Amino acid sequence: MTYVATWATEKLNKNEIAKLEKDGLAVFDDFSKIINTPWENISKYYYMYFKYAGLTVQKPQTDGKFMLRVKIPAGMITVAQAKLLANLALRRGGGFLDITTRQSVQYHNIKFSELLDTFSEIEAVGLTTRGAEGDINRNVIGNPLAGIDKFECFDATPTLMKVHTFFQGNTDYSNLPRKFKISVSASTMNSANAEINDLAFLPATKKINGQVYKGFAVKVGGGLGAKPYLAQYLDLFVKPSQVVKVAEAVVRIYRDHGYRRNRAKARIKFLLEDWGVAKFTDELLKLTGPLASAGENITTSWSNGLVLGVHPQRQSGYSYIGVSVPTGRIAAKDLAEFAKIAEQYGRDEIRFDHSQNLLIPFIKDTDLAEVVAQPIFERFSLETSRFQDYGMTCTGNEYCNLALTSTKDISRQLLTYLDDNFQFERPVRVILTGCMNACAHRNIADIGIQGVAARDKNRQPIEAFTIAIGGTLLNDGHFNEDIKGKVPKSILLPVVKDLVSVYAEQKHENETFYDL
Ligand code: SF4
Repeated sequence: MTYVATWATEKLNKNEIAKLEKDGLAVFDDFSKIINTPWENISKYYYMYFKYAGLTVQKPQTDGKFMLRVKIPAGMITVAQAKLLANLALRRGGGFLDITTRQSVQYHNIKFSELLDTFSEIEAVGLTTRGAEGDINRNVIGNPLAGIDKFECFDATPTLMKVHTFFQGNTDYSNLPRKFKISVSASTMNSANAEINDLAFLPATKKINGQVYKGFAVKVGGGLGAKPYLAQYLDLFVKPSQVVKVAEAVVRIYRDHGYRRNRAKARIKFLLEDWGVAKFTDELLKLTGPLASAGENITTSWSNGLVLGVHPQRQSGYSYIGVSVPTGRIAAKDLAEFAKIAEQYGRDEIRFDHSQNLLIPFIKDTDLAEVVAQPIFERFSLETSRFQDYGMTCTGNEYCNLALTSTKDISRQLLTYLDDNFQFERPVRVILTGCMNACAHRNIADIGIQGVAARDKNRQPIEAFTIAIGGTLLNDGHFNEDIKGKVPKSILLPVVKDLVSVYAEQKHENETFYDL
């Protein structure tokens, strides 16, 4: 029987037709031809292809400036890479960069004419922007504490890097229906947010022929956006050596059978919903050959990949320092300063977590007092009890074309205001995004705030927000639920304050919004 991919019989959307004409990653061949062209003469035809280079044309689109995202698999960089990232931000990115919720960084204000030099500098230190955006496998994320974590079944970083290497630049899988997000973590704290990834490997054990193996459970089909879905378990146990094979098979199914007619329906979550887990697993096993059925799931809790404060590592005599970066925006000079600390006291390493913070591992316990006395920690708090430390926010209308509202400025005001008014041992997680795309994961927040279009009583457009409460990824996850109505930006702070007041007055000990 001839094999026919589902999409071969579908009416394709315009992006799909363009991707059939030319592979997205081929955009790098185009840059040398178009880089000297004045920006106003660059065709919008390229905008979709730019994504494959990690680029989004920034608003206003007439300026020829870009948001540029760098891929950082597992969120781990060397000191030299951190210094380069900081230096680039200083020279070309307006002096700052943003830490993303997928352990990467992104710049704003990168000029078109400077792109080739920027790519060269990034690739010279072993990093890349290739596939940081576009309809392709995005940055593979993992446990921010991989290898140093007391709550880890084993260090999954080598497996994660094999997945990254397999897909990186692989033109067999560079034309997917939409983006594809993979997480690989062996932390029992679900530290890579498995349920909101398209494909997640999370720790499991399995007794086979009397021997207990450490490996992975598999979840498929998570994702946020207008219609959020939590990933579902497949009845599989996967050894570390089988992970690339399984990841390739899942991505191949998605490539060949994911929907390409309507981009709003193109994520793998919709295919899984239509097929069901049983059919999906049957198709997967046709590609991989036999795999063991599910073992014992050993995930016990959910850390949200949030890594703050000073904590002992698994390695005796060493600690890591998790540094809160409110709203994820960090000045170039501050990143350079943290790189210096990692160089002097750590092991040539800085990491990014899933909550827009950074951490420096392998600080000798004997050096800790000296390190935390560095002047930079007067500005970057190591205490972990502030709303600012737990909040997250996306780019918003400052740079994002899709944003309906501002985000970073209102989030800063809101979280500071809550810190001024409340003190909890562990504050509620307040996440604010500028539209329904939920780049900062507002659906899994205790209080998720989303920018929406609204009009005032004179029918003039205003910035407004919806509020939802009770999100979590504990116990396989639960999305927060909307409170009816839209809140104008002008009264957002007092409204959220009232909400938190009710929580403070009525909650039992350790009760979260999810429990209410
Ligand atoms: Fe832009 Fe919306 Fe994503 Fe925020 S959530 S960065 S506004 S697309």
